[in-house]
Amino acid sequence: VAGREEVWAAVDELASGLVELGRKLHARPEVAFREFFATELLSGFLREAGFRTISPWCGLETAFCAFWPSEGKQQAEKPAPAVAYLAEYDALPDLGHACGHNLIAAASVGAGAALAAVAGDKGRVLVLGTPAEEGGGGKVRLAEAGAFAGLDAALMFHPSCRTQLVRRSLAMVALEVSYHGRAAHAAAAPHLGRNALDGVVLAFSGIGALRQQLRDEVRIHGVITAGGKAPNVIPDFAAASFMVRALDEAYLAEVVRRVEGCLRGAAEASGTEVHIQRIGPAYAPFRPNYPLVEVFRRELALVGVEEAAGADEYEGMASTDVGNVSQLLPTLHPEVAICREDVPGHSPEFAAAANTAEAYEVMLRVCKALASTGLAVLSDGKLRKRMWKEFRRGSE
Ligand SMILES: [Zn+2]
Ligand SMILES: [Zn+2]
Repeated sequence: VAGREEVWAAVDELASGLVELGRKLHARPEVAFREFFATELLSGFLREAGFRTISPWCGLETAFCAFWPSEGKQQAEKPAPAVAYLAEYDALPDLGHACGHNLIAAASVGAGAALAAVAGDKGRVLVLGTPAEEGGGGKVRLAEAGAFAGLDAALMFHPSCRTQLVRRSLAMVALEVSYHGRAAHAAAAPHLGRNALDGVVLAFSGIGALRQQLRDEVRIHGVITAGGKAPNVIPDFAAASFMVRALDEAYLAEVVRRVEGCLRGAAEASGTEVHIQRIGPAYAPFRPNYPLVEVFRRELALVGVEEAAGADEYEGMASTDVGNVSQLLPTLHPEVAICREDVPGHSPEFAAAANTAEAYEVMLRVCKALASTGLAVLSDGKLRKRMWKEFRRGSE
């Protein structure tokens, strides 16, 4: 990429400020839709770097849009190429930054600022503050509001214990279910009761049997959130919460229908009434964009980070709201190791790992690779064509 040295030098110049951003976010973790400190901190940094910022954005109080150039050119006759860096910054309840989103934010803000410093008239650079990745689906809501329209690429990275540039993610729907029965003395008059807990237990049994008849990559998992209060009272209320996941949306819809069949059947069997409710937005599966991955792989190797051997796209899949973004435009979401392979995500160990000198060193390298990948997208029309061709092909 012509200009790589310049954009990397711009990252070097910002480096200490970016590490400070990461450390400040880590020290003050905020959960989904409560990320006021992060929004203020990151927007302020970007304004200093010459961006204009808008927050609240698309109806979300803790989302922001930072764009450069800050005026003019936005409405030019010939639309300029545009690259957006996605910054996540929400933490997990009780665990703090156990998913390392403090590093995502620092890398995306840094890459955006560095690219803007060298982009000249090549195109537009945006940094989009996307809240509530951990439940809440901030990006799904932003996508529905049209936040990604008119962009050529969405770029970010995710910290991990293993470097893997493409990992698929599963489509997901969350369900809440409650059973309503009739309370009665469990010894003196059980025949007068209708056991809501039986409804939940039978639902789990039915789903357990259903699993045998589903495709391998389907995941159905749940917890009982209410199951009665005393063993000598037939519970008149019980509830559970489920997540249902599959590799594509059509099959997910079919699986959800069958799960709902289990839930209703359990009500029938226990003589109770069931209420089923969908919680939050549905997550779409991740659609990789290989031309973008190839550029990033090359840039990442140049900063000394190599992909782990034997990486399997379909191994260890979860769900992320980046999936919904990847259904709208070419999207890059690589995982890069910040610690040893045996440190599980969403654990106190990972939260500690996300705040080490080693992790910030990796963040800065990734920041450079993201910045020069963005520069390639802005300056190489042929690459943009390949990305969009691949996108339209569906990447299957
Ligand atoms: Zn997470
Ligand atoms: Zn995460």
